[in-house]
Amino acid sequence: MISHGGGWAGEQSGRIEELGGLIHAGLRDGDLDVELVVELAFLMEERGRTGQATREVVERPIAHLTPDDVARLGRRLLGDLGFGPSFVLDPGLWTELERELGVVERDLRAAGITGELRLVVPDWDDSGDAWVEFRGATQGNGIRPGGGGLAGVADAVQEVVMEMAWTVWPVCPEHDRGLHVAWERGRAVWRCTAGGSHAVAPVGELGHGRPAGRAQGPRRRSEKRMESEAPPSPG
Ligand SMILES: [Zn+2]
Repeated sequence: MISHGGGWAGEQSGRIEELGGLIHAGLRDGDLDVELVVELAFLMEERGRTGQATREVVERPIAHLTPDDVARLGRRLLGDLGFGPSFVLDPGLWTELERELGVVERDLRAAGITGELRLVVPDWDDSGDAWVEFRGATQGNGIRPGGGGLAGVADAVQEVVMEMAWTVWPVCPEHDRGLHVAWERGRAVWRCTAGGSHAVAPVGELGHGRPAGRAQGPRRRSEKRMESEAPPSPG
């Protein structure tokens, strides 16, 4: 039987990890069950992992703990354990990451860039992080379970795509300059640093509506005339 690298041997460590996963999920979903927190605190005490949070849970009557107390103590216990969620313990984190990748992929395809884009957990990274793989390669950093967010995923996709496709992506249709992802008013956007800096589109909505970089309709002023490269006139 292969032992965990986590530190605790034996069956209780398995239960501690399991409780960690359940408490993490409860905190995320806002419905943390006090019984889970109590069980974890007692198990930690048994294992000699006594701390301020375990003491408080053990000593205070459960009925006196408010939902805020329970959440606070749950977080403290996870912190004391050095608990990080994993994609195995919390498959919802993986689902969420895949959803975010799908959103970013819309922008990639809108730019006409092809090639397989997916999430992988490579053998060589024993942290259990997810990596964005594009055309069979990874680049940069992994995304830890529960980390990333749409901006983080967009960042990771951009890094591997630019490396593998040898192209700047995405590009501002107005200024022909590479964009970078930013967090703005609660959402991830692609931002251009030209023209006094402006948000081009939310991540996932690039190139929607009008074809990028093409003049449409009468509102467009001819502010940027292209110098046509006329062939030298025959002499
Ligand atoms: Zn721009």
